[in-house]
Amino acid sequence: MASRIAVIGAGPSGLAALRAFESARRKGAEVPEIVCYEKQSNWGGLWNYTWRTGLDEFGEPVHGSMYRYLWSNGPKECLEFADYSFEEHFGRPIPSYPPRAVLHDYIAGRVEKSDVRKYCKFNHAVRDVEYDDATGKFTVTVKDLVAKKRFSEEFDYVIVANGHFSTPNVPYFEGVEKFLGRVLHAHDFRCADEFAGKHVLMIGSSYSAEDIGTQCHKYGARKITFSYRTKPMGFDWPEGFEEKPLLTKVVGRTCHFKDGSSVDDVDAIIFCTGYLNHYPFLPDDLRLETRNRLFPPNLYKGIFWEPNPKLMYIGAQDQYYTFNMFDAQAWYARDVVLGRIALPDRAAMHEDSESWVRREEALEDPYQAIDFQTDYVRDLLSATDYPRLDVDRVAELFKEWEHHKVEGILTYRDRSYPSTITGNMAPVHHTVWMKAMDDSLEAFLNQPSQQAAE
Ligand SMILES: Cc1cc2nc3c(=O)[nH]c(=O)nc-3n(C[C@H](O)[C@H](O)[C@H](O)COP(=O)(O)OP(=O)(O)OC[C@H]3O[C@@H](n4cnc5c(N)ncnc54)[C@H](O)[C@@H]3O)c2cc1C
Repeated sequence: MASRIAVIGAGPSGLAALRAFESARRKGAEVPEIVCYEKQSNWGGLWNYTWRTGLDEFGEPVHGSMYRYLWSNGPKECLEFADYSFEEHFGRPIPSYPPRAVLHDYIAGRVEKSDVRKYCKFNHAVRDVEYDDATGKFTVTVKDLVAKKRFSEEFDYVIVANGHFSTPNVPYFEGVEKFLGRVLHAHDFRCADEFAGKHVLMIGSSYSAEDIGTQCHKYGARKITFSYRTKPMGFDWPEGFEEKPLLTKVVGRTCHFKDGSSVDDVDAIIFCTGYLNHYPFLPDDLRLETRNRLFPPNLYKGIFWEPNPKLMYIGAQDQYYTFNMFDAQAWYARDVVLGRIALPDRAAMHEDSESWVRREEALEDPYQAIDFQTDYVRDLLSATDYPRLDVDRVAELFKEWEHHKVEGILTYRDRSYPSTITGNMAPVHHTVWMKAMDDSLEAFLNQPSQQAAE
C-alpha cells in the first residue's frame, strides 16, 4: 500500500506542507496520500479570524488569538513566499504592513491556486496519535465535529502543525481575583474599541503587550500601563504610556509593582503573558515539551522528533521568520519523506540539534536572534529545490524593522521595503497607520474617496 501522511492543522505551517508535496507531485514525483485535519471550518490558522472566545460552536477551545484591527507586526517582505509573491497575488505591489484580512487572502490565494483544498478535512479535530512499533504506523483518532463521530486511520508519517499561540499562559497575581474591573488574556482580546476612555494594564513586554497596548491607544484608551518581568520594552513611548516593573498585587482598582510604585483607577488588566506549546493529542513519548524558543530541543533540524523522526513538527519554534520558514521546513520534511534526503542516526541528529540549542542560549540581543534564525532557514533551504530566497536580504529588512520600531513605535508601520522576490519597492500606504481605522481588505487596497479628497 502507498504510504500516507496526516497533517494536523491547516494554518500557514500545515498549508506549507500541502504545498510542498503538491509541488513535487506536479513535477512528476510519486508522493504519499495526504490527509490534513483542521478543526476549524476553513484554513488560515490564526489568520482565519473568529469573533468567538472560550469555546466554539462545537464546544472545542477556540483556536484564534488574533483580533480586529490586527496589522502585520513585521514587514510583509520578510514573510513573502518565494514561490508566490504578493505582486503575483494582488496584481501590483502593495504597502509593507497589511492588515490581517489581506494576509489571510494572500495565504489562501497560494493554496487555492495549487488546488490542495481536496486534501483538507475541515471541522475535524485530532484527538489522539499513537505509534505502533510493530507495524511502524501511526493511528490517528479524529472527531468529525459536524457528524459528531470519532474515527481512526493509519498513517506512515504525521506532521504536527497545530500552532503554539492558542493556549494561554496565565500566571497568578495576588488579589487579581478581587480586581474590580475586567481581566482577560490576550488570547481573548478581540476589539480595542471596548477600552476607549479606559486605563488598561498590560502584563508582559513582548509582541502582544506592545501591539495590544498601541491598538488600545489608537482606538481611544485613556492610559496604557505596561508591567514587565525582566526588562522594559524601552520604546520612546508617547504621552499616555508608562512602563512599570512586575505587578505584585492588586487591591481594588489599584495595581502595585515590584519597585514599590502603584497606579490607580485601572479599568482592565490584559495578561499578555504568552502561550504554551500544547499538544493534547500526543502521548508522552511523542510530545515536544518546550517553552517558546528559537530552537526547541530534541527536534532535528527544528522539525524531526528525534526518538521517532516519522513524526515531524512544523512551526513549533519562536518566530521572526514565519510563512517562508514554514515553507523551508515543509520542503525539507517532504524531501526526507520522499527519500531525497537521508536522516543521520539518532545520536548524530541529537548532537546537531544540541549545537543549535547551545548557540541559541548564547544569543544576546534581537539582532543576533535574527541572524540565528536566518542561518537556520538558510541551512534548510540549501538542501531542497525551494525557489531562491535571499535570506541575507530578509535579515537586513528585519534589522531595519527593529530600528524603525525604536525610531517610532506608532509610526514604524508607515515604512516601505522592497520585495526580496520581485525587487519592487512597496508603495506608501494611502493613510498613516495611526489614522487608518478600517482594517478591511477593501479599505487597505483601495484609496478611500474621503481620504483621497483630504
Ligand atoms: C496575535 C498574533 C499576532 C501575530 N502576528 C503575526 C504577524 O503580524 N506576522 C507574522 O508573520 N506572524 C504573526 N503571528 C505568528 C503566527 O504564529 C504565524 O503567522 C502563523 O499563524 C503560524 O502558523 P501555524 O500554522 O504554525 O499555526 P496556526 O496559525 O496557529 O494554525 C494552526 C492550525 O491548526 C489547527 N488545529 C489546532 N489543533 C488542532 C487539532 N487538534 N486538530 C485539527 N486542527 C487543529 C488550528 O485550528 C489552526 O488552523 C502572530 C501570532 C499571534 C498569536
